[in-house]
Amino acid sequence: MGIAKKNKAPYINYTVCKKCTTCIDTCIFKAIYMDIDGYIKIDYNKCRKCSIKICIYTCPYGAIRE
Ligand code: SF4
Ligand code: SF4
Repeated sequence: MGIAKKNKAPYINYTVCKKCTTCIDTCIFKAIYMDIDGYIKIDYNKCRKCSIKICIYTCPYGAIRE
């Protein structure tokens, strides 16, 4: 018996996000996009909650958390 480790989905802190679009280019699953209102969004149908979490580490402002 044990508790399986479950990756959490990342989320964007909009008070910190500068809309620099760095994360859009770095997500290998193309899960991050800018919506028509200019907000950076994570498409949770595409996000694999990947273990490398490259989006979190590449955001220069620390706006992506899990
Ligand atoms: S890399 Fe960070 S600051 Fe830039 S658009 Fe993405 S979440 Fe916003
Ligand atoms: S956790 Fe992985 S798949 Fe999800 S947005 Fe970040 S880099 Fe993309």
